[in-house]
Amino acid sequence: MVTGAAAVASASASATALVADEQGALPLPWLAAPLAEALASQRGHALLVHGSPGVGALPYALTLAQAWLCEDQDAARPAAGPCGRCASCRMVRTHLHPDLLVLMPETLRRAFEWPLADDKPDSDDAKRKPSKQIRITEVRGLIDWSTKTSARGRGKVAVVHPADALNVQSANALLKTLEEPPVGTRLLLTTADPAQLLPTVRSRCQLQVLDAPQAPVATAWLASQGLAEAEVLLAACSGRPLDALVLAQAGVEARIWAALPRAVANGQAAAMAGWPVPRVLDTLHKLCHDAMALAAGGAGRYFPAGTVPRAGRLPALAAWSRELDRVARHDDHPWNEGLLLEALVQQGAAALLAGPGAVTTRAPAAATRLDTLKP
Ligand SMILES: [Zn+2]
Repeated sequence: MVTGAAAVASASASATALVADEQGALPLPWLAAPLAEALASQRGHALLVHGSPGVGALPYALTLAQAWLCEDQDAARPAAGPCGRCASCRMVRTHLHPDLLVLMPETLRRAFEWPLADDKPDSDDAKRKPSKQIRITEVRGLIDWSTKTSARGRGKVAVVHPADALNVQSANALLKTLEEPPVGTRLLLTTADPAQLLPTVRSRCQLQVLDAPQAPVATAWLASQGLAEAEVLLAACSGRPLDALVLAQAGVEARIWAALPRAVANGQAAAMAGWPVPRVLDTLHKLCHDAMALAAGGAGRYFPAGTVPRAGRLPALAAWSRELDRVARHDDHPWNEGLLLEALVQQGAAALLAGPGAVTTRAPAAATRLDTLKP
């Protein structure tokens, strides 16, 4: 399993537009078909969008909300998107629409500059770590907001992104509103993994799947954003264009990505120096996956053909994979990042180059070393 991608992607995804612009152009071209489908067929009051942040789950949810609230909808084309020009569309774009409430964890609210009305100024809580959860007080605020009359008379929309950031208490607090919201209020939830949600939340929503775009559409869009060799980073990110863009914006160009397997096999931790731990783990998981695929006679998925060493053996790679899983479960732990990176890369080098005589089914020495890195 590849972990940490969402955490990496959320860090700086705010560069991409979130809603339709003043010409009505969608923030991402591949949202047009699912948007038309939802506008033509969605009649329920609660919709769960199953899509990755790297495919644009948030821009999709916000653009659908913008369309529902748009005051210049073309009656002859009911499935058309938001006009982009009307007062409502403009207010959504400036994050000031009174009938749109967006619940996100504080970390994302800051990244996307979409604060709640009662957010404290930074100076008041600068010392507190921003929450990665949607808290019960925020859900209570949503319930309270939903009982008020629509300010502009076109109903109200609450977006919860991602719904798996609701903790058990806040999810339970939302259930009644999710089942039977006040007339005219719609709820729009997103998740990259519906299995992470309470069954009682899932069962109260209609489901819409937001698929990754076809590769030619995605690479053309990435090229329009200035990415060279976009197909390399697109493969690196499982076909999710926004994740590929974030990777490029972090300085990981296609040639750097393609050189990583060899650098890890050579024990060169410097190749990932300064990377956040979730990105390091995500990258090593992908490298381990490709090496295992090659060892099993298959083809890699994340790195270009010919870049991953073929000397690895399945037992050693499987042990490395388990160790990466173990560290990933604690990826927000306050590691000594330099030492952790060094240890992970040394493990990777051993696993990638383990010949038939070097097979091991466990990685005791490395595991011990990693344990000692915990403060
Ligand atoms: Zn409009």
